[in-house]
Amino acid sequence: MQEQSFSVRTTAREQIVIVTDEVNRALASMTNDDGLCTIIVPHTTCAISVNENADPDVPADLTKALRALVPDVRFAHGEGNSDAHFLSTLIGTSLTWPYRGGKLVLGTWQGIYFVELDGPRTRKVTVYV
Ligand code: ZN
Repeated sequence: MQEQSFSVRTTAREQIVIVTDEVNRALASMTNDDGLCTIIVPHTTCAISVNENADPDVPADLTKALRALVPDVRFAHGEGNSDAHFLSTLIGTSLTWPYRGGKLVLGTWQGIYFVELDGPRTRKVTVYV
């Protein structure tokens, strides 16, 4: 197994950053073959997903919807970020995705979403092949 990591610097508490180019660069540095890769975020208050790469209103709308999704729960966790832990679990911290010729196989309107839920922070994304 090979792996390549890159950093994502976020600037808001909830923020979606499209990292398709960074994932493709990581992939291309490891393979020009076909296969499945696994993309992970080794954190507990962010997530990784796939959604629209064209209209910037989509990540902005999803960020608003994620914030609204957390009910008025009396969380016990002392860090005050249980909402972020909850959303990270819902969305997920890994993706398995096909690549061809060392490049992700995505639909025209799809991009890889890094989902920050407790920023701003510097985060790590790792791609495994
Ligand atoms: Zn916490």
